Amino acid sequence: MDAIKAPRGTYDVLGDESWKWDRVIGVTRGAAADFGFKEVMLPVFEHTELFSRGIGDATDVVEKEMYTFTDKGGRSVTLRPELTASIVRSYLEHDMRRRSQPVKLWGWGPMFRYERPQSGRYRQFVQIDFETLGASSPLADVEMIDLSMEIYRRLGLSNLQVLLNSVGCPSCRPAYRSTLKKHFESSIHELCDTCLGRLERNPLRILDCKQPACRALTDIAPSVLDSLCDECRVHFGEVTRGLERLGASVKLDNRLVRGLDYYTKTAYEILSGELGAQNAVCGGGRYDNLAENIGGPHVPGVGFASGVERIIITMEAQGAYMGEDAGPDVCIVSSSPDRALEAASLAHELRAAGLSADMDFMGRSMKTQMKSASQNGAKFVCIIGEDEAASGTVSVKNMSNGEQESVERTSAAENIKNKLLWR
Ligand code: ATP
Ligand code: MG
Repeated sequence: MDAIKAPRGTYDVLGDESWKWDRVIGVTRGAAADFGFKEVMLPVFEHTELFSRGIGDATDVVEKEMYTFTDKGGRSVTLRPELTASIVRSYLEHDMRRRSQPVKLWGWGPMFRYERPQSGRYRQFVQIDFETLGASSPLADVEMIDLSMEIYRRLGLSNLQVLLNSVGCPSCRPAYRSTLKKHFESSIHELCDTCLGRLERNPLRILDCKQPACRALTDIAPSVLDSLCDECRVHFGEVTRGLERLGASVKLDNRLVRGLDYYTKTAYEILSGELGAQNAVCGGGRYDNLAENIGGPHVPGVGFASGVERIIITMEAQGAYMGEDAGPDVCIVSSSPDRALEAASLAHELRAAGLSADMDFMGRSMKTQMKSASQNGAKFVCIIGEDEAASGTVSVKNMSNGEQESVERTSAAENIKNKLLWR
């Protein structure tokens, strides 16, 4: 029988890499606190309707990428492909409109999309996600973009490009949609098959197509900025002014449309040169109609999501500090299997005193135990040999300079803690 492997598009994070993830989430958590965002933990599956109505039926995510199944109670549920719709659902369900506005929430965890796996693109991937709900001010958009850049700055990323656009609102988008449709219809024979389908249902998505012929048509397409209504134009102007004031360098890109239907006004993406074809580390924008689309009242919102795998790939490529795989404070090395129980009780005491400690279970020689302590990156070794056992002492060896000292067994924890302070 063949050994069972992990499903395509998924991956295992092994123990010798998980600290990289801790670093990204830890830095994100710190930035979230500094910007006043509270963490939420939401279910990984939701009613399918939340996404079909929230994200939009005519989007790639809903049409092709969702993991949807019928549960044993006959309900259609879907593994979340993103977090925004769930956060808005939770805001409405818990009547957060009654709280002081805006409500600023963030979350992280696995998302699921049935896509073609490749570097930086998986079927299960991790996003960090931020949402500000209940604020229509352009300053909320500015803060959101600033926050995403601040997280990357703290993680040591450089060379990122922020692309900014407005996608209008339901009052000005229909006019742009039909202008755009006319533009593409005039060269309909040059569109790829996918875009032919998009022409009726969602012509804005053609702007996102990577096929050379569609790109050429897109390059000469009318700009959305010329179709914005007054409200959207003023909003866009204030967002760009706000970002300028912060000294943020952004590139206006009037071809930028996002893959999810709920966006209104501000749309942005942050690209990394280190990612090849999957070059977006972050996508976000404003979604003033999402709450209504899923059956709630009008709640303006703005947010972004960023893929943690792509952040890590970029950090690795740029040599950013990723934290370290710290070894234990102490490894206990004992002279014979008879001393193993003694070693176990010392490990117990050291851990209770707040030190990280490890010991040998395999009855190996002292030499081998010393070698593995050194390989595991132990800062100190506590040796329990014949002499030590007889005199109620332990020998504490500093692994960075080889110095060794005999100390009372009862004061071993205190002794090592002191030495750690002076390392
Ligand atoms: P892409 O254009 O790469 O498909 P998207 O527009 O579908 O991205 P969003 O839905 O905006 O992406 O998600 C925000 C971020 O989540 C992306 O910028 C990316 O960093 C990450 N992301 C999206 N899909 C995947 C995936 N399948 N695997 C890994 N990361 C992903
Ligand atoms: Mg996508």
